[in-house]
Amino acid sequence: LLADETSPPDRRALAEELGWALGHPSCCVEAYVARSHPSGAALVGSYLAGNLGTPAYRAARDAWVPRPLPRLNGFLRHAGRSFVSFQPCRYDCPHALAVADRVAGACTLANREWLAETDRVLARPVVVAPDGGRAVVALERRIEPMRVIEAEALSEAPSDQALAAQLVGAEAPDDGLFRQRGLGWCLLVDFGWVRPGTGAGAAPPA
Ligand SMILES: [Zn+2]
Repeated sequence: LLADETSPPDRRALAEELGWALGHPSCCVEAYVARSHPSGAALVGSYLAGNLGTPAYRAARDAWVPRPLPRLNGFLRHAGRSFVSFQPCRYDCPHALAVADRVAGACTLANREWLAETDRVLARPVVVAPDGGRAVVALERRIEPMRVIEAEALSEAPSDQALAAQLVGAEAPDDGLFRQRGLGWCLLVDFGWVRPGTGAGAAPPA
């Protein structure tokens, strides 16, 4: 549909129309379109912020918030554990959460155990690298700054394996961006911040 010969304005309009046709929230569609067709100024800003990398990495950088909602974790989609089929504009977007909660609600009827397990595995911190590498991590939260104590590659891909191998022992940054050598610009999305009993997908405290 979005062939290379399509002119940029047409591609933009098509991407918007497609997102809306699929029922994705308009704020998330607009963020996707802006990311896919950046202005010159936006490109310079991304360069200065180190926000260059695979589309999945840039989407995660744009969506990052300190307290992301686990039901908006799309990093386990390849394993069939996801409630969203689009990139949220922010990991606490209320419109994206409404979609995810509707999907989860439908799952309750079909398979309550699958739902509980999915909520559990989504509520874990994820690290994504600019080259697209992804790992699920466990954090030691009782120390400041927090540290990565376990890291599991999300697939057999060399980029995932290399990332996981470097993460153990790393300090977890408050702003999400690792600065250690070998982990430059890697991003921590802490879907595990939700305390047990508060429920995955619960709104963060104001
Ligand atoms: Zn949104």
